[in-house]
Amino acid sequence: MTLDLREVFLQEGSVKNFEYSFSMSDIEIGGVYPFASPIMVKGEASNSAGLVDIVFDVNFVYRRPCDRCMDDVERSLNYRLVHRLAVSLQGDENDDYIEVPDYTLDADELITADIILDLPAKYLCREDCRGLCPVCGANLNESECGCYGEETDPRLAALKNLLN
Ligand SMILES: [Zn+2]
Ligand SMILES: [Zn+2]
Repeated sequence: MTLDLREVFLQEGSVKNFEYSFSMSDIEIGGVYPFASPIMVKGEASNSAGLVDIVFDVNFVYRRPCDRCMDDVERSLNYRLVHRLAVSLQGDENDDYIEVPDYTLDADELITADIILDLPAKYLCREDCRGLCPVCGANLNESECGCYGEETDPRLAALKNLLN
């Protein structure tokens, strides 16, 4: 959605609220399309003392395999994204500002970039997920496969063969 923020910029003290949703379902990460619901956005742009701040509260359903056991895990994620806007930037020291030269902001693009940066780096079905057996591939959260005997670690087995 393109937000027209002209009124907010031109009137000190003004506030503009908005609410909408958009889709990130075509974005692929690591071979899956994890954005299982529309991105729900509530936002507020406000002008205080001539500076315009914009806050987005976003929530969406995120679904991708657990990093260890590969089971699909679905979670509702929420983020608060905050930016300061400027009509023009001078110099290189304004990385914290987003430039909106014609008072309009492509909110989808900004929110998409923010969300991708904020996604959890490690994604587990639970903290103590036991993952898959490296020998037989069984999901160890669900069953003991019996591979965990003395000689089942393939590295140990290889070592043993070397020593014999
Ligand atoms: Zn898991
Ligand atoms: Zn096993």
